[in-house]
Amino acid sequence: MRALSKREAREGLWMTDVPVPTPGPNDLLIRIRKSSICGTDVHIYKWDDWASKTIPVPMVVGHEYVGVVAAVGSEVRGFEIGDRVSGEGHVTCGHCRNCRAGRRHLCRNTQGVGVNRPGSFAEYLVLPAFNAFKLPDDIPDDVAAIFDPFGNAVHTALTYDLVGEDVLITGAGPIGVMAAAVARHVGARNVVITDVNDYRLDLARRMGVTRAVNVAREDLWTVARDELGMTEGFDVGLEMSGSGPAFAQMVDTMNNGGKIALLGIPSGRVDIDWNGVIFKMLTIKGIYGREMFETWYKMAALIQSGLDLRPVITHHFGIGDFQQGFDAMLGGQSGKVILDWAA
Ligand code: NAD
Ligand code: ZN
Repeated sequence: MRALSKREAREGLWMTDVPVPTPGPNDLLIRIRKSSICGTDVHIYKWDDWASKTIPVPMVVGHEYVGVVAAVGSEVRGFEIGDRVSGEGHVTCGHCRNCRAGRRHLCRNTQGVGVNRPGSFAEYLVLPAFNAFKLPDDIPDDVAAIFDPFGNAVHTALTYDLVGEDVLITGAGPIGVMAAAVARHVGARNVVITDVNDYRLDLARRMGVTRAVNVAREDLWTVARDELGMTEGFDVGLEMSGSGPAFAQMVDTMNNGGKIALLGIPSGRVDIDWNGVIFKMLTIKGIYGREMFETWYKMAALIQSGLDLRPVITHHFGIGDFQQGFDAMLGGQSGKVILDWAA
């Protein structure tokens, strides 16, 4: 079958011919329809420090997808050939204390699809049936193909009660923009998003934020106070940029008792004003992946109750044109980029 692989330990990805994987007794074989490009795939493409330490070569990459069940392992219950599925990309051990307590998202032995085991930029993917999520019929393929990063947005945004709250989101990448849409949908009062990239701030405006602020040009406090009448600061902060200065600005602009969820992954240590954290009595929580599988059920329900994610999908390419898809991601002038295996 055709598969996009990290074939050599240097920048790039290559279309390769690899054997169709064989499902074990507890696995599904999934025929991929669409697979979208994650920031992680871009790190692997560029072969940065993290990627060269983490990814074995050769490796089929990709982990955001929608597909159809093509074969079912002998021990699997609850799935049939033809079921439309997406899947949780964190494959957990099942025997550590957190797994045994049902807190799979806290497994210490997590293996990543398309990172530590073969991924979804391929005609077929083998996945433990436990990780598959059967999609309701009214969820379109394009939206299902981005359920993995949507799950990061939902997990982070729903960490705290947002109803009636003033929410600051730092970073208008695809995940920040989707989190903003979730915050609006569930009843936040003001949703303010920051970035330094105007293309992305425009995307956030199309997703219905109260105010998109380019912090390279505008002062966040001035906008919040003078334009939006928020004299006391933000109630909830969702950090989705991985930028140290963005996190520091979030700490500075929170109200006393504010709550922060951190999803963005900084490239190194970050310097923030800990006195601000202490004297404001802020709560800070790190977020990794999606809750298994509560986040998945919530994602489906959010879409079924009218949340529209389509504006965040800005590019489609046939799989043969994958290079154009990666170029769009590398240029920063994109939301989600979907590669279509049927094209
Ligand atoms: P992205 O890189 O596409 O978006 C980040 C955005 O932050 C960019 O648009 C960038 O211009 C913006 N930014 C840079 N400096 C800024 C500043 N000072 N203020 C405000 N914005 C600034 O990333 P994404 O795919 O949307 O993912 C968001 C973050 O979440 C990334 O850091 C990613 O690595 C991380 N992530 C974490 C998990 C997890 O499980 N914790 C999962 C997926 C992604
Ligand atoms: Zn475990």
